[in-house]
Amino acid sequence: MNRTTPNLDEVVRDIAAEMRARTDRGEVATYIPELARADANAFGIAVIDSDGHVAVGGDSETPFSIQSISKVFTLTLALGMVGDRLWRRVGREPSGSPFNSIVQLEREHGIPRNPFINAGAIAVTDLILSRHQPREALGEILRFMQFLAQDTSIIIDEEVAASELRTGFRNIALANYMKSFGVIDNPVDFTLGVYFHHCAIAMSCRQLAMAGRFLAHSGRNPTTGLSVVQPERALRINAVMLTCGHYDGSGEFAYRVGLPGKSGVGGGILAIAPGRASIAVWSPGLDAAGNSHLGRIALELLTKRMGWSIFAG
Ligand code: GLU
Repeated sequence: MNRTTPNLDEVVRDIAAEMRARTDRGEVATYIPELARADANAFGIAVIDSDGHVAVGGDSETPFSIQSISKVFTLTLALGMVGDRLWRRVGREPSGSPFNSIVQLEREHGIPRNPFINAGAIAVTDLILSRHQPREALGEILRFMQFLAQDTSIIIDEEVAASELRTGFRNIALANYMKSFGVIDNPVDFTLGVYFHHCAIAMSCRQLAMAGRFLAHSGRNPTTGLSVVQPERALRINAVMLTCGHYDGSGEFAYRVGLPGKSGVGGGILAIAPGRASIAVWSPGLDAAGNSHLGRIALELLTKRMGWSIFAG
């Protein structure tokens, strides 16, 4: 059978139009009050292929709160600082539990299941902090994002960070609980301050897709040629994204989309088509597992139409 290669720009444009027309949009997160202000009708998508071509649709230039997507980048930074020693602090198994669950921590002696549930991400942030003062650690994380996205205009939304600081009782409990097992080295307030702030980084789909390019291309940005991590590290980060990137919706995401991905409660998803593209989608309405409802559907359509599932032969 001789099929023509689908045109990426057309596919992305069609998906954006289809998503704009849908009425099922999920529920915007409200547990961080500032996030509740997001526009439930927003939808954005940006796809950057291996040649650096950027295909965009919808609200692809609007900054949104990246929230847990930042955990991919803090994991990358922390691995660069402490290497595989990181895996003594944090596991790499899917949790099968909600993002902010505390029950597993008791059974597993304060060692979080993976770096993408909140407890695991807080433990990773603590490792980054151990080399710095909170302000420096945060500066390092932000500069890393700016470097990856090649855009110094990326900022932390202080209102979102303050909002989470005021209402983050569950995360405060998780951090204190881990501290009691000796899994957190720094003062809990310092670690949480850095964690809440890196979750509050605001980026557009275009900026986020740009930042993810190294994961799609064996650890380096194919346009600049700059290496971010070794190829083996990039594929391992992708593996953890595939198995753990969507909390207890990770199995469903792998089944439907077939790509490593990481979601955030701001409604963003970063997905990686290895060797092909870095993709960011954003729609603030979430499904029951806390993942972007339309974001997931858009990615499912994209991988189907482009033939990009990693499970395709
Ligand atoms: N900052 C959020 C929290 O810790 C991140 C959760 C998420 O994006 O899934 O609750």
